[in-house]
Amino acid sequence: MKLLHHIRNIAHNQPHTIAYITPNQEITYGELWDQSERVAAFIKTQTLEKQLPILLYGHMDVSLVVSFLGSVKAGHPYIPVDISIPAERINHIITSAKPGLIINTTNQLLPCNDCNVRTIAFEQILVDLPATGPVDQSNWVKGNDNFYIIYTSGSTGTPKGVQISVNNLQSFLNWMVEDFPINGQLIFLNQAPYSFDLSVMDLYPALMTGGTLFAVTKEMIEKPKFLFEELRRSNAHVWTSTPSFAQMCLMDPSFNEDLLPELSVFLFCGEVLPPGICQQLMTRFPRAKCFNTYGPTEATVAVTSIEISNEIMKDCPTLPIGKPKQDTQILLLDENGNLVSNGEKGEIIIVGPGVSKGYLGQPELTDKAFFTYKGEQAYRTGDAGFMDSRGHLFYQGRIDFQIKLHGYRMELEEIEYQLSQSPFVQSALVIPIDSGEKIEYLLAAIIPAKHTFEKEYQLTSAIKKDLSRMIPAYMIPRKFTYFNELPMTANGKMDRKRIKELVLL
Ligand code: AMP
Repeated sequence: MKLLHHIRNIAHNQPHTIAYITPNQEITYGELWDQSERVAAFIKTQTLEKQLPILLYGHMDVSLVVSFLGSVKAGHPYIPVDISIPAERINHIITSAKPGLIINTTNQLLPCNDCNVRTIAFEQILVDLPATGPVDQSNWVKGNDNFYIIYTSGSTGTPKGVQISVNNLQSFLNWMVEDFPINGQLIFLNQAPYSFDLSVMDLYPALMTGGTLFAVTKEMIEKPKFLFEELRRSNAHVWTSTPSFAQMCLMDPSFNEDLLPELSVFLFCGEVLPPGICQQLMTRFPRAKCFNTYGPTEATVAVTSIEISNEIMKDCPTLPIGKPKQDTQILLLDENGNLVSNGEKGEIIIVGPGVSKGYLGQPELTDKAFFTYKGEQAYRTGDAGFMDSRGHLFYQGRIDFQIKLHGYRMELEEIEYQLSQSPFVQSALVIPIDSGEKIEYLLAAIIPAKHTFEKEYQLTSAIKKDLSRMIPAYMIPRKFTYFNELPMTANGKMDRKRIKELVLL
């Protein structure tokens, strides 16, 4: 595989280049390669069934990245499980994926009830096994073999294991290094936990190009002073995060070019990129380019992208998600499965070599979401979108965010979009409040923009007045609640569930 060959070349030619930096550890390419050889050699001694996954538990430690490479060099895909994943979900993953081995890179016990799977501490592997020669390359995962399996939340509430093959990952990486200005041994911030595939957007492009990853840990996110000290120390060039994480950083006025003078690229993915956030970033980091990218885990991280220029900011009230990568096709289908015309809304279907073979051990769910289109693997995203006359794709919310309130059909994200257009709103989420049987009313959770109203009710009525110009009265939320910041999930997206709990307290 190209990725592993590249890392091996860097490890041989520049063994002392730093591959990964965390608050208390660093590892060079030479060490990364050697230690992962030892992990691979250990895994080989376990004589596991071919392609049986290995569950890797931890949080942004160098040992986790060593274990990723160790697994795939031994011919086994890995399942990254971050420490933020609750015990119940870990148990579900273990029962459904049936991993052959668990490597725990933390010093805490794995929170699972019945770990009927051999579990070994990472430290033990390096102690037990003397340094060995290289693992024969013929063992490496290849072609259609799985490289990793990432568990995403399913709409049914049970997580689904998305299988990403060597070919899927390589298609994504080829695009990253060809189409984005990220080559040249740059420093990449690594904000997303490894159980979220946004992390793949910095991890492997960094390692493939001889760059250095700089970890933004959970502890930093919880302690803004520490986070900003570490951001300064990173001197990063490439920023990859959800828009929500950037929005959190923007709340501090010192988040600007002086803090990160070398920053040249912002890569966003995972949720809507609000134009206001992009505008602030462009003002505070005038030399950095800002890219909006889009894609689900099922199609390997991202499949469309666009650089947000001043012109696009001026022309588009919502930001486009751009054009598909070269080897990939986007179809927009109506409810009957027919292609829609330009400008019309349809479900986004992704066709191409980045699309996963399906969910591990779940053929029915796989058949529902995946199919072949003209001989290529295709995935129904459940996202709605339309294409403008320039061939730019726009995201228009989840098909399943469509709700009915008092018989009216509406989309929460449309209301959110209209809210975000009010000059009094910096960021907004709309939450349906139900009685158990049906939706009773809508609640707007809002971070207000700067305003001069003395009382909240005055602010609310000004926002409602703005809304009434754009949407029918039945779509205007009944209640408004204001926040200084909105809670995020462990993956760095807006946490709708938690916000609902907070407002219902
Ligand atoms: P995940 O599999 O967790 O990465 O979530 C994928 C979903 O996130 C997509 O199907 C979209 O609904 C949403 N998403 C990803 N990127 C964007 C984006 N740039 N703009 C809007 N929504 C996005």
